[in-house]
Amino acid sequence: MAHGTAPSDIKSEIKRQLKERRNPPPFKTNTRKAVKARDIRYNEWSDFEERREHVVARRQDALDHLSEIHEQLSAKWKENGVIVHHAANSAIANDTILKIIRDKGADTILKSKSMLSEEIGINDYLEQHGVEPVETDLGEYIVQLRHEVPSHITMPGMHLDRNDVGQLFHEKLGIEYTNDPPTLTQVARRVLREKFLAAKVGMVGVNFAVAQTGHIATVTNEGNGRLVSSLPKTVIAVMGYERVTQSLDDLAMLWQLLARSATGQRATVYLNLMHGPAPGPTGPDEVHIVVVNNGRRALNDDPELREVLRCIRCGACLNACPIYQQVGGHPYGGTYPGPIGIVLTPALKGLNNAPDHPFASTLCGACEEICPVSIPLPKMMLELRKRSVESRAAPDLEKPVWFGFQKVMESQKAYEIASNTARFVQYNWPGKNPMPIPGWTDHRDAPQFAKKPFRDLFKDKDG
Ligand code: SF4
Repeated sequence: MAHGTAPSDIKSEIKRQLKERRNPPPFKTNTRKAVKARDIRYNEWSDFEERREHVVARRQDALDHLSEIHEQLSAKWKENGVIVHHAANSAIANDTILKIIRDKGADTILKSKSMLSEEIGINDYLEQHGVEPVETDLGEYIVQLRHEVPSHITMPGMHLDRNDVGQLFHEKLGIEYTNDPPTLTQVARRVLREKFLAAKVGMVGVNFAVAQTGHIATVTNEGNGRLVSSLPKTVIAVMGYERVTQSLDDLAMLWQLLARSATGQRATVYLNLMHGPAPGPTGPDEVHIVVVNNGRRALNDDPELREVLRCIRCGACLNACPIYQQVGGHPYGGTYPGPIGIVLTPALKGLNNAPDHPFASTLCGACEEICPVSIPLPKMMLELRKRSVESRAAPDLEKPVWFGFQKVMESQKAYEIASNTARFVQYNWPGKNPMPIPGWTDHRDAPQFAKKPFRDLFKDKDG
């Protein structure tokens, strides 16, 4: 299985992507469509802001009581016959999952879509140990066949079009080339259906676990989550430590916000509620849940960043982000692209592993505005930038530059000398692009000085 880029490569990857991108990039149109669809659905609610405030309060309350909620959940799961595993990190989660699969004598595992499973790198791990993971969400299946990682949280194959998929299926599945979406979907359906019927073990992601009842909720649009959790006799659910709700009422509200924000639907096609084992022809004999921490508990103790754990992975902030629209999801590296990724990746993995992430934003605020759980992402990016600057061990070139800027701005004389010099250089610079500024004029024009400064015009006017 191929791999995404490392989070630390974001700068060079963005540069490469900008050079190589198709014109127009396929994801550009799609994200705008997704934002429009989301807006139409939200405009149906005259009380949208009140609903959002309610959900924010409930989600934050859950995060404020995470330990108690997990105690309640563990008791419920035990009562419901679910086997609970807690994993402090990816390595423990992967070992736990592999052990369950081996105990069942399986060499294949069927998966429904799960960003957490991407985060812990389970596919690579299982392949290294002789187990074949098979993605069953169509987009995930496509990117898996291409040996890629998803480029979007909810639309994994957003960087591809129907021709790419036709070519892929022709090469990998041996069918005659076609770019007809219904035909391609039927081909994937046929291939996956055989795997569904033969699988001993299935793995689902968890959108939310409900403390009141112990239900494990999974939302999908293709029904694959339901097949993965009902046909195999053993089901493993993988869940991030923060993905909890207190009640079914909270779940209902979150579900609606998730669907409207992600795809502009009033509700997803499927909401699967798994209660526990259900021996019989259409239910598993054994249900395991692996609760993964991977830095979440520590993040919940960080007063400046903990609100990011409210995220429900709808992907709306990606769709609204001008940077994501230009570069797509792969240059971010790691698991989570876009505005949520540039906060969550350094917050979970440490700034040293994703040092440039907080800077991959214009701070325009579109992500916060569209976020259904009002996460103040720009504020967090600024906080991470501050921490990044403060933690730099090497001599920092930015410091003398900003010191010089401060001195120039504090003195009228110095300001006039500096601006007159810059104006002279700009108007006398040879070539098409006056005064190139590294990293700035590669992609846009330099700001143009007025021929005559305002202060001179003002003086002339006064005579
Ligand atoms: S940060 Fe908000 S908009 Fe972005 S994925 Fe999370 S919930 Fe959705």
